[in-house]
Amino acid sequence: MSTTNTPRVALVTGGGSGIGKAIVERLSADGHQVATLDLQPSDAPHSYVADVTDRAAIDAALTRIHDELGTVGILVNAAGLDGFKPFLKISFEDWQRVVNVNLHGVFHMIQAVLPEMIETGWGRIVNISSSSTHSGTPYMSHYVSAKSGVNGLTKSLALEYGPAGVTVNAVPPGFIDTPMLRKAADKGYLGDIDKTIEATPVRRMGLPEDIAAAVAFLASEEASYITGQILGVNGGRNT
Ligand code: NAP
Repeated sequence: MSTTNTPRVALVTGGGSGIGKAIVERLSADGHQVATLDLQPSDAPHSYVADVTDRAAIDAALTRIHDELGTVGILVNAAGLDGFKPFLKISFEDWQRVVNVNLHGVFHMIQAVLPEMIETGWGRIVNISSSSTHSGTPYMSHYVSAKSGVNGLTKSLALEYGPAGVTVNAVPPGFIDTPMLRKAADKGYLGDIDKTIEATPVRRMGLPEDIAAAVAFLASEEASYITGQILGVNGGRNT
């Protein structure tokens, strides 16, 4: 896939691990200056530390990014937190934490970055939701609710900000080999991984690079007519 890009400043939340890390590497290879925003410092050249639920910390990081790199043109929301409990065992605190990181974090990031995209008349926002939003997933009702909210937010913002030159799309990944997935598998939450591979039409797990390729395309110049879309990258498990 050829992507002819003007170099931009890109900001990737959760860029220190898994899918976010692969997105950082891919956008860097595409010629962008890429900053990560994560709970821990990452080994990326432009690493900023903030919790996506903490608006003051986000604003402080953005001031530094603005001073050190320039105006953010590409925002990828990849930070996320999973959770596995039967619905009746989910405390309201569990519910709030999962919704805070996965949905409210995306609200804060977009609200903080969007004004500078509007000012320059160009922006690409890509939200990493989850393939669990296609079908629902037992024991993940808080997570699936939050990620479904992200898909809805994506569609609404696409309509509001298309006229301003900003596209907003979501990529819901399914069954991607990352530290998050491995931790869940080790705790026995995901069943037999080999059986899941057998049931996946392309007969393999996804790689973080599979998600990064879709994100890089949606962030490119040539994706300017694509907005409000939910682009599943899941080996055909959800269509
Ligand atoms: P990962 O390896 O755990 O990476 C997630 C990153 O987000 C980590 O660096 C994590 O930091 C960071 N993070 C968590 N909470 C944060 C917060 N409050 N503020 C800032 N950063 C925070 O997971 P992944 O599998 O790559 O997941 C990336 C995204 O894809 C997530 O949104 C996830 O829900 C979504 N997703 C993944 C899959 C899959 O199959 N892997 C499927 C569907 C959706 P720490 O490591 O320090 O906690």
